[in-house]
Parts: sequence; structure tokens; C-alpha cells
Amino acid sequence: MSFKIPYGKQFISQEDINAVVETLQSDFLTQGPKIAEFEKAFAEYIGCNYAIAVSNGTAALHLCAMALDVKEGQKVITTPITFAASANCVRYCGGEVVFGDIDTETYLLDINSVKKLLEASPKGTYQGIIPVDFAGRAVNLEEYKKLADEYNLWIIEDACHAPGGYFIDSKNKKQHCGNGNFADLAIFSFHPVKHIASGEGGMITTNDEKLYKKLLTLRTHGITKEEKHYSNSIEFAGGKDSYPFWYMEMQELGYNYRLTDFQAALGISQLKRADEGLKKRREIAAKYQQAFSGKNYIKGQSGVVEGHAYHLYIIETDDRLGLYNYLRSKHIFAQIHYIPCHLMPYYKQFGWKEGDREKSENYYKHCLSLPMFPTLTNEEQDYVIKSVNEFFSK
Ligand SMILES: *Cc1c(COP(=O)(O)O)cnc(C)c1O
Repeated sequence: MSFKIPYGKQFISQEDINAVVETLQSDFLTQGPKIAEFEKAFAEYIGCNYAIAVSNGTAALHLCAMALDVKEGQKVITTPITFAASANCVRYCGGEVVFGDIDTETYLLDINSVKKLLEASPKGTYQGIIPVDFAGRAVNLEEYKKLADEYNLWIIEDACHAPGGYFIDSKNKKQHCGNGNFADLAIFSFHPVKHIASGEGGMITTNDEKLYKKLLTLRTHGITKEEKHYSNSIEFAGGKDSYPFWYMEMQELGYNYRLTDFQAALGISQLKRADEGLKKRREIAAKYQQAFSGKNYIKGQSGVVEGHAYHLYIIETDDRLGLYNYLRSKHIFAQIHYIPCHLMPYYKQFGWKEGDREKSENYYKHCLSLPMFPTLTNEEQDYVIKSVNEFFSK
């Protein structure tokens, strides 16, 4: 029994370590051949055409908002129950964040709350939607795509919690998170608590070649080395009959959001175990589910959900603070996901207040994420379950 059981943690194997060390000994530290290899392997895993590795999930969101041209005064809809970065990317570009509310059964952004917002304003008021595959449960993007087309909106899928997750579409086909069939862009994070860890790291996936090319330049300062796009003359560039080899142009304002090669090496190595980890997460969820079925002190997630990637295993309870503290005293570090984003002081300055999104706020009062990570042992999980039951039987 380990002394501390966190709600989530990474698993670094000897192969992972070897992969990083090998890359450190190569000629490339920052962006080199491992980046392309990681992007290709990730695109294959997700089932999309293009993947762009970036320095973290937040950078991925920022670049997506830039590539889709979010500007001052434009409105974008997302869920309050997410990590703040899902909303912040809109603010980085000067846009306005409008929060929908959640579906109390799935905890995902409720499409009906989005419809209500869209119907209440003239068409053209909103520019896009950022649904989040919260806790690992896939958003039904087929439904969102229909709505987006009707209102001429783009979709950025925040799939940070859900590599390997999927929903079943209307033709009974599995649609994997981030596969680009419905959303314009999707993003992932490789922060250590996520499914695949690279230290810091992120990925953007898409099937749109134009967006892909734009994102590649935005990732590196807005610089292009493609001759056919140059706007200055050969003469200016210092060439004679052609542009000299050193020449490049910064054509728009981008950032340095590159991932390093040794992080990509870690990502590649971790990706090889992604399915194994996912299987383990689903087993852990099933075991919790079984252990808590029929316990009236635990509400929330009923039944094991197909396609759920179980980044988090969430329960709801009336005495959340009591349970949280009791588990802490037992060295079990549960966590809350999330404090509603619209009630963060930063967002309150835009007029958001308590009572604005009742379902999200009510969920926040009861939710607790129990330990969920692939290396959680049977023994540890039994101890967690026993401790939860103990608390309520006192
Ligand atoms: C982790 C996370 C992010 C941000 O990813 P970082 O790599 O930490 O920047 C964004 N959205 C969600 C839902 C996340 O869980």
C-alpha cells in the first residue's frame, strides 16, 4: 500500500526512460525527427489526417482560436465544467466567452442550453463552440455539427480527457474523440495527469489541410520557408535568380509553441501503452461502479458508459466536504473537477454570477473525483472503496 493515493498520476516505464535518453544523445533537442514521428503515430491512433504537436494543451487551444480567427467582440460558447483553458483561449484572442450549462446525467455541455443561447440572438452573434469530452466521456459531435452548420459556427473539441474515447453515431459507427469528422479542430494535453504524459505537451488534430498549414506556421512565430508564399522580392532577399537558402518570412504574428524532441520521444513511447491504460481505466471504473451500486449516499454516473475514456471517475454526494476530508485523513487525495469556470473571479468581472448556470453550480457542490489511473492497484482501489463506505457508515 503506497502512502499517498492521488486522484491521478503518470506512469513512466523503463522503455519511456530509454526513449528519452536516446533522444537526448541524438543531434536534436528541440523540434526534430521525433516530432514528426509522434504526430504521425498520434494521428493514426486518433484516426485523423493531421496532427500538430505543441508545447501544451493550452497552447493548442490558443493556436486553434487564432487559426479560426477569434477576434475582439466575437462570442464563443463552452461549458462551465472544464479546466479554465477551454475558455481562456477565447480571451487570449479578445473574444467573449459565453457559458452554456451541463446535462446532469452526462456532465457534458448540454446541447439544449447551447440551442437556447443561439436562438436567443440573431444569427452571426456566435462564432464557435468548444465542447469538452469531460472526464473522458465523448461529446456527441454529430449533433453539434448539425447545429454548427445551421448557425455557421466552427467547433473546437477539447479532447484533453479522452484520447481513445468515442461515441456511437446515428449510423451505429464508433466516432473517436479528435478524429476530425465533425469538429474543425480538436486538442489534447500530455500533462502528467492525462492519459499520455510528455511532461508538458499538447496536440492539435484535424482533417482540414488549410488549418493544418496555418497552425504549423503559428506554432513557430508565423514564419514560413515556403517560397511560393513569399511576399518580398528575390532581390530584396539577397538572391539573384532564386531566394537564397537562408531566407524566410514572418508573415503573421505567431508564437514559439514547439514541443521538444525528447518530450515527443516520451510521448511516442507512452502512446504505445495508451490502449493498455485505457483498458485498465475502464476496469477500475467498472469496479467502482459495482462497489457503489445501490449505495444511496452516492449519486451520479449510472452504469459503465461505452466509449468513456475515464480520465476521471466522479461520484456525487451530499457530504462532499466530509468525505473529502475523511479520505485525506486516510491518505487518499480525491479532487474536485471543476469549480465552475464562470464563477472564477476573472470571469465574474464580465458579469457572471451565482445562479447563472444552476446545473453546473449544483454539480459542483456535490462532485468528487476518486483515484483513477492505470497503475492503481487492486489493493489500493479496495482500500479507497472501503474508506468511502466506512465514512458513510459512521
Ligand atoms: C489539461 C487540460 C487542458 C490544458 O492542458 P495543459 O497541457 O495543461 O495546458 C485544457 N483543457 C482540459 C479539459 C484539460 O483537462
